[in-house]
Amino acid sequence: MKERIKEILSRGPSEEVLVVDGWVRTKRDSKNVCFLEVNDGSVVKGLQVVIDKASFNNDELLSSVTTGTAVECTGRLVASQGGAQSVELALSKLDVVGPCPADYPLQKKRHSIEFLREIAHLRGRTNMIGAAMRVRSSLAYAIHSYFQDRGFTYINTPLITTSDCEGAGETFQVTTLDLEAPPRKEDGSVDYSKDFFGKKASLTVSGQLEGETYALALRDIYTFGPTFRAENSNTTRHLAEFWMVEPEMAFCDLDGDAEVAEDFLKHIFSYVLEHCSSDMDFFDSFVLKGNIDTLRHVIETPFARMTYTDAIAELEKVNSRFEFPVHWGSDIQTEHEKFLTEEVCHSPVIVTDYPKEIKAFYMKQNDDGRTVRGMDVLVPRLGEIIGGSEREADYDKLLGRIRELGLEEKDYWWYLETRRFGSVPHSGFGLGFERAVQYVTGIANIRDVIPYPRYVKSAEF
Ligand code: ATP
Ligand code: MN
Repeated sequence: MKERIKEILSRGPSEEVLVVDGWVRTKRDSKNVCFLEVNDGSVVKGLQVVIDKASFNNDELLSSVTTGTAVECTGRLVASQGGAQSVELALSKLDVVGPCPADYPLQKKRHSIEFLREIAHLRGRTNMIGAAMRVRSSLAYAIHSYFQDRGFTYINTPLITTSDCEGAGETFQVTTLDLEAPPRKEDGSVDYSKDFFGKKASLTVSGQLEGETYALALRDIYTFGPTFRAENSNTTRHLAEFWMVEPEMAFCDLDGDAEVAEDFLKHIFSYVLEHCSSDMDFFDSFVLKGNIDTLRHVIETPFARMTYTDAIAELEKVNSRFEFPVHWGSDIQTEHEKFLTEEVCHSPVIVTDYPKEIKAFYMKQNDDGRTVRGMDVLVPRLGEIIGGSEREADYDKLLGRIRELGLEEKDYWWYLETRRFGSVPHSGFGLGFERAVQYVTGIANIRDVIPYPRYVKSAEF
């Protein structure tokens, strides 16, 4: 494999003749020399190529090289005269691999992030999206290696589901029925027995329930895959298609779950700081100042622990500051989350034991009859980054909650069975992968941390 610019930039000056491939980002021309910045996407700052025009003596070729042109440059690495880089390539031969006409949309000027979304097929060539994708890739690697190194089994839960029992959000229906003229039952309703799966199907909103069944077989598992929510919300934090990481551990209570969540976040954040330092420096300089310090703080500080009840007591003291004042029983929203982590704890905080009414049916019920063993991990600047819980392991209590909430009991037959056959305490959590990429990069909008975002009214490319 040919050497990438990232590796070439870490070399010192030498007599060796190198061949460097990439795309021209900028060209600076003067009377005697021409500078090209050539980038191949392996690193945020490309290689400076210096052309001595007198000896090169091919103005026609040089003038055909414009921003976006794919080139192959042959030359030697020399110590750079300018301060911005330690080495540069003294060019001896230049080949145009692919020309780039003047209507190339990514000219040198800075483009708005909204414009770049309209040219998502090209935006990976910009510094910011390129860096975001490299960090995203490293973060995925760090997530896999965290769990793999600790003996977790990677489980692929299904993307198509017919159980409609995750209850986490609006689902996308999957059907092969003719939407113009679907088969109907006698009462006029759509006859899903004629549909592909013989019943109504949709895309998954979470792999958790299936993940649990495999934790109760293999002990420690994790999922890492796409999830789909037909969220009709135009926010900077919601996509219709996003990736989720969901570890699940058998013989593990909520304290154990919280310990893993803290250790896991610290691990993946440290990993990107260490392995993506030039991209992270770029984000810190151009996207969100102070971002690296925030991450370091999260890595270095022990996470605080606080019950929901104590959190509400803290929030009630300053209720007048909030757009949505709280009381015991209300949901903790982003403004409250930020206050708790930034101003009460001055560190990340794990809030536990929420009222059962505001949490999902599967969470373990506490003896007080009012709260469940759920947890949210809150971090400065963002609020919730992880949600998790100890799951209800008791068959009767789980069934009771399903009935109380009026859920379809028959849909949960397989989930309930795992509580009859060797049920054990087990816990897990979910991390929205794009939210994690957003957090480490400081990129404001979730649509810019995934190659091709899908959201309401938008599924281009
Ligand atoms: P939110 O309140 O932000 O909508 P949620 O409570 O619906 O989140 P969960 O059902 O707990 O979220 O999902 C687990 C994780 O998945 C969340 O903590 C979040 O990081 C991520 N997530 C949820 N919905 C989306 C979405 N539409 N786009 C991207 N990530 C999401
Ligand atoms: Mn949601």
